Amino acid sequence: TFEPLTSDFYGFSSLLSEQEREALQTIRDFMEHEVRPIANEYWEKGEFPLHLVKGFLATDAARFAWPETAPFENSAVFRGMAAMEMSRVDASTATFIGVQEGLVMGTIGVTGSQEQRDEWLPKLASGEVTGAFGLTEPLSGSDSARGLRTTARREGDEWVINGAKRWIGNATFSDITIIWAKDEADGQVKGFIVPTSTPGYTATKIERKISLRAVQNADITLENVRVPELLRLQNANSFRDTARVLRLTRAQVAWSSIGVAMGAYEGAVKYAKEREQFGKPIASHQLIQDHLARCLGNITASIAMCVRVSQMLDEGTQRDEHSALAKGFCTARMRETVAWAREAMGGNGIVLDYEVARFFADAEALYSYEGTHEMNALIVGRAITGVNAFV
Ligand code: FAD
Repeated sequence: TFEPLTSDFYGFSSLLSEQEREALQTIRDFMEHEVRPIANEYWEKGEFPLHLVKGFLATDAARFAWPETAPFENSAVFRGMAAMEMSRVDASTATFIGVQEGLVMGTIGVTGSQEQRDEWLPKLASGEVTGAFGLTEPLSGSDSARGLRTTARREGDEWVINGAKRWIGNATFSDITIIWAKDEADGQVKGFIVPTSTPGYTATKIERKISLRAVQNADITLENVRVPELLRLQNANSFRDTARVLRLTRAQVAWSSIGVAMGAYEGAVKYAKEREQFGKPIASHQLIQDHLARCLGNITASIAMCVRVSQMLDEGTQRDEHSALAKGFCTARMRETVAWAREAMGGNGIVLDYEVARFFADAEALYSYEGTHEMNALIVGRAITGVNAFV
């Protein structure tokens, strides 16, 4: 049976249906029993627990967003809370789903033809196929709307892709990677489903990360990679279509960042009750209570914001600036929260064994991916003022 989280102080989970709460509990059980016990070990090794993928996807974790795969009709608030639940235990595992379900299935759901959706969404949801999403490049990160160097040239019924990608999550083991490239003919950004076994495609793991160490990010090179027209996403005609995918995934990252803050906060509360200094638990010191209350304030405000952004998605009123504001705001609150939680633990706050150190380090990646704080501020700023200040 579903228990509201202590870190969900206002009981936002009561907004969910009975069926949604049950599904959330299934995900929570998997995260607690299968992922939590090994999360630190894989983080430290810099490896992803691939053996868990099939079991994880059997919880339906990647099925909910699209009618082709959803086990029941569900709300965007529920899907956000699912991302929060995963990140509350392990942000690397949550990021795996964020790529598989959010970025890859999201791209195919938003920009694929019905045939492409029917072919790929069920395979991705079950884990028969794993995917990656290749937008960022070595020379183009924040400016990928205009700065992509990777090109696609049409030759008969085929496209020839050349270029490089950087930071691509899951790409060391993915079966397919979505590659965004500029069409040499019209200069517009198009999307392609590239099987990673295609000649000319190589992916190399990025080593020595200090954040989301279990996520396998890769540098990709594409040398005369040939894909059939059938694998071009039929409704991805310009970067505007890429942005439609990012609008959805940014809101999910905002939810995930709340989970990271919750994980750190819960760890700090537990520690504060156990650790004694000056003859009593540090939880009984006023300044520690202030830390914890601030953490809970950040978490609660962020959930309230994300609930509304998700409701707007279901109502059909969510715009880019709505999810950008949530992504920028919630990840900044997360960053404060993990720092306060870590601080409340003294030296043990930087040791993996107490878990909070992992959340503290992982927060940095969430803060920067899917649009940095500055990029999301500029999206909101453009909506406020009507002035485009990117360039
Ligand atoms: P840059 O764009 O070089 O930015 C550097 C700094 O300059 C930032 O602070 C930025 O905000 C600032 N800046 C840039 N332009 C302006 C401006 N006009 N005004 C003010 N400030 C500005 N990408 C994918 O395609 N697929 C993935 O799966 C993926 N996974 C990732 C996973 C991780 C762990 C990380 C770290 C990144 C991932 N990314 C992925 C890439 C991520 O989206 C980029 O890192 C991000 O968009 C920022 O780009 P950049 O790192 O090139 O930084």
